[in-house]
Amino acid sequence: MKAVILGGGIAGVFTAHFLKERGFEVVGIGGEVTYPLASLVLTTSMPFREDVELARRSLEIYRRFAEPREVVSVDILPRWVDLSNISHIPHEVVDRVDGVRLSPDEIAVITKDYLIPVRAIVSSLRKALKFSNSYGFLKADGRRVYVIADGRRIEGDVIVLAAGYRNSIIAREAGIELPLAPYECYAVAFIVGRKVWRYSIGDYVLGWYGRPTMPPIYIAGNGCGKYGEGSPPNYTKRMANLISQRIGTAIPLFLKVGYCEVGPHGGPLYGKHPLFDNLYILGGFNGYGSMVGPALAERLADLLEGRGIDDEFRIERAPKAQFDPCQVAERHDWGAVLLRNT
Ligand SMILES: Cc1cc2nc3c(=O)[nH]c(=O)nc-3n(C[C@H](O)[C@H](O)[C@H](O)COP(=O)(O)OP(=O)(O)OC[C@H]3O[C@@H](n4cnc5c(N)ncnc54)[C@H](O)[C@@H]3O)c2cc1C
Repeated sequence: MKAVILGGGIAGVFTAHFLKERGFEVVGIGGEVTYPLASLVLTTSMPFREDVELARRSLEIYRRFAEPREVVSVDILPRWVDLSNISHIPHEVVDRVDGVRLSPDEIAVITKDYLIPVRAIVSSLRKALKFSNSYGFLKADGRRVYVIADGRRIEGDVIVLAAGYRNSIIAREAGIELPLAPYECYAVAFIVGRKVWRYSIGDYVLGWYGRPTMPPIYIAGNGCGKYGEGSPPNYTKRMANLISQRIGTAIPLFLKVGYCEVGPHGGPLYGKHPLFDNLYILGGFNGYGSMVGPALAERLADLLEGRGIDDEFRIERAPKAQFDPCQVAERHDWGAVLLRNT
């Protein structure tokens, strides 16, 4: 069986890796890896058990390639929040965190996060699996699809579309609709004090998240914007004001506009496109691709091997309706679940 994988990020390379392990002939087509950050945060502090399960599995998979670095996860919440629905995560609730200002009506939920050296892992898998740097186009022909890259028509028993935020754009160019939508997200690099270097922070009171990278640089962001619009005015200044309320001095260095993609249920989707015999999709990773990516790539490979499971991430189950990605509550975000339900 020949599988053509379009997309050379976490989704694409791990799908190619698991398919190759299962005996498929794999052709990987995927532009350069564009991660702005060498490492991404993997947390198991998420509201839904299914996501936690995927993150734990992804962590096991990464450990075959590199040992992730542990950091302290600090989720800041109002004291009145009902924490009974986080019993599935080992955690500690505290009133004080060294280097972080908490008011008397706030608490911090402390768990463990991991910094995954995603850029290095993806890059070495791309090399091992002989991914090309070509840009590919999807084309439909009756109930089958194929890829055009470098002026050549590339056929496959299976075509896997795994091109990150570009999935729905690439599909639409071929006249194919997907229940996925791209959006913009923004992050600012700051220089911050030493005490904060080991914290991955989710501030659900002031509304931002932050994580360490190469000390003394710290990345902080929030928000969702319409694809192609660019960052809101004064974003860097507003983010600096916000995070300095929490962690003291923060010197902004640069702003990065990033692109993500989400499904209508606020999370990822994988599976077979119902209208095509050979088109499979893996995408919608939004802000937590390092957590769900490898584990879902493994499930997609299982599905293609004929032993898939019918879970809630299957694209066949997704509603077809158009949706606004910035109105969808992201599944990995505590704010969306804890604060709205309480
Ligand atoms: C600033 C920022 C910080 C983030 N922090 C975290 C974090 O800490 N933890 C976390 O888990 N997630 C984080 N994310 C989200 C994470 O980056 C994504 O979820 C993840 O990268 C999605 O992986 P992917 O493989 O689906 O897509 P991508 O990483 O976008 O990879 C898509 C690949 O497809 C290629 N491609 C696109 N179109 C084509 C085409 N037509 N032909 C060939 N190739 C093509 C691209 O070149 C790229 O190689 C962050 C995102 C941003 C923007």
